[in-house]
Amino acid sequence: MVVGSLRTEVRKELGENEHEADWIISHVTKMSQEDFIKNPREITADEAVEIMDIVSRRNSGEPLQYILGETEFMGLKFKVNELVLIPRQDTETLVETVIKKIKDKEVKVLDIGTGSGCIGISIAKLCPNAEVTLLDYSEAILEVAGENAKLNGVDVKLLHCDILEEIPEGKYDVIVSNPPYIETDTIFSLDNIVTSYEPPEALDGGFDGLMFYQRITEIAPEIMEENSYIAFEIGYNQGESVSEILDEAEFSGIKVIKDPCENDRVVTGKYKASLFSDLISLGE
Ligand code: GLN
Repeated sequence: MVVGSLRTEVRKELGENEHEADWIISHVTKMSQEDFIKNPREITADEAVEIMDIVSRRNSGEPLQYILGETEFMGLKFKVNELVLIPRQDTETLVETVIKKIKDKEVKVLDIGTGSGCIGISIAKLCPNAEVTLLDYSEAILEVAGENAKLNGVDVKLLHCDILEEIPEGKYDVIVSNPPYIETDTIFSLDNIVTSYEPPEALDGGFDGLMFYQRITEIAPEIMEENSYIAFEIGYNQGESVSEILDEAEFSGIKVIKDPCENDRVVTGKYKASLFSDLISLGE
């Protein structure tokens, strides 16, 4: 069968997920999407079996990123498995906000709850002067992040630490985090694709969804340099509550930033900003 007719069949089989057909075919045949449209070739029997196997797993609800073991984020490739959250496009707003802030400055960045490493690794790739540390509570998750750092050719530090129990070592100029922020009760009413495949630990932000924002703010004096910068991803309805948490601690210049869909998505602030912070650090 030539790739063109297989493509038509795969799109039909995938139904509402038809837009994923090219990704699947290209993954299995190792042809770029452009290739199989411009220079079509015969699909081998083994390839066809593999493609149809992926389609049937996909149709039973498994996210394609877990089936293929990879995804794209900030134009970079990341390996994923069931231990880590699938990087979301929403999170690109967080990364872009931080990158705009640090540009080519020599700063120490800590990515708390790194998961696949998508945030810290994208920052390390796009801000070569940043010294990035990826922190996670699980060694197995850090292994995934480490593999992704290698895959993307960046040099990062890996830090194993459960921030709910201990204080991470080191002092940082930038703290960035997309922590679990969903209220415990809500997790069980989410679209069950998320709850049945993605790790609940990556989603559960405690009874009010704010547990990690509170904890990170609480340990800030131990891990943040004066005049340093914090950037959190938040749920669309958490702009006010997360701003308040920062406001009650020693943060100033707090901002809520929207994602391209106009939802509140990121909260940023400066820790113990001095009057002259503009001159000496990351303040605006
Ligand atoms: N930092 C990772 C991401 O944004 C994991 C986040 C999480 O597990 N809550 O995808």
